[in-house]
Amino acid sequence: MTVETGQISSRLLELQTIDDRIREVRDRVASFDPMLEEVDEPARQLEQEVEVTSNRVRELHLEERRLRLAVDEKRQRVHRLEERLNLVRTLREEAAVQAELGLVRRALDQEEVEFVSLLDQIAKFEDRLAAQREALEEAKSVVGPKRDEILAQQEAARADLATMELERGLFTSGIDQRYLSVYDALKRSGRRSSVTRMTANGACGVCFSLIPLQLQNEILTTAPLIRCEACGVIVTAPLPEEAEASPESANGG
Ligand SMILES: [Zn+2]
Repeated sequence: MTVETGQISSRLLELQTIDDRIREVRDRVASFDPMLEEVDEPARQLEQEVEVTSNRVRELHLEERRLRLAVDEKRQRVHRLEERLNLVRTLREEAAVQAELGLVRRALDQEEVEFVSLLDQIAKFEDRLAAQREALEEAKSVVGPKRDEILAQQEAARADLATMELERGLFTSGIDQRYLSVYDALKRSGRRSSVTRMTANGACGVCFSLIPLQLQNEILTTAPLIRCEACGVIVTAPLPEEAEASPESANGG
C-alpha cells in the first residue's frame, strides 16, 4: 500500500514532465506559423501591387475604348461637314458650316492629343505591371523552397507531438482515474506546476511553505495524495538521495 501510494504521486510527477515536453513541442508547432507568414510577406505585398496596377491598366483600356469611339465619331462628323461644304449654295450657309466644322475640328484635335497621351500612359502602366509580375514570380520562386522547408519542419514537429500524445495516453491508462482527475483539474487551472517534490527540509517544492510534520510523514509513507495547504500543488516524496542527505532535525524547522 505504502509503496503503491508513493508511486502514484511520483507517476503524476512523471506525467507532468511528459506534459511539459508536450507543451514545448506544441509551442514549436505553433512557432512555424509566424515564420510562414514572414516568408510569404514580400510576395503578398507584390501580389497587392500587381493587383492595383492591373486594375489601373483595365481602367485605362476602358477609357481608351471610350475615347477611340469619340474620336471616330468626330472624324465622321468632320468628313460629313466637309462634304456639305462642297454643296453649300450661299455664303451664309458656307459660313455656318465652316463655323461648325471649326468647332468639331478643335474638339477632335483635343481628343486626339488626349488619346496619344492616354496611349503613353497605358504603355507606362503595362511596363510597370510586367516588371511587378516578374518581381512577383521571382519572389515566389525564392519563397517556395524556404516555405517547403518550414512546412517540413512543422510537419515533423506535428508527428513528434502525435507520438508523444499517444505515449501519454498509454502512460495515463496505468494511473487511477481519481488521481488523474485531480492532476488534470490542477493543470486546467493554468498553474505551471501541478505536482512537485517535497524539499529535503519538508517544504513545498513550488511555494516553499513548510508542510506540517504529520503531512510530511504521510508524504514519505502512506498518503496517496497530499496537496500543499498553501498553494494546492500535489506534493510527492523527495528523491531518495535528497531525503538521505537531509539530517533528521531539518524536518523540525
Ligand atoms: Zn505550495
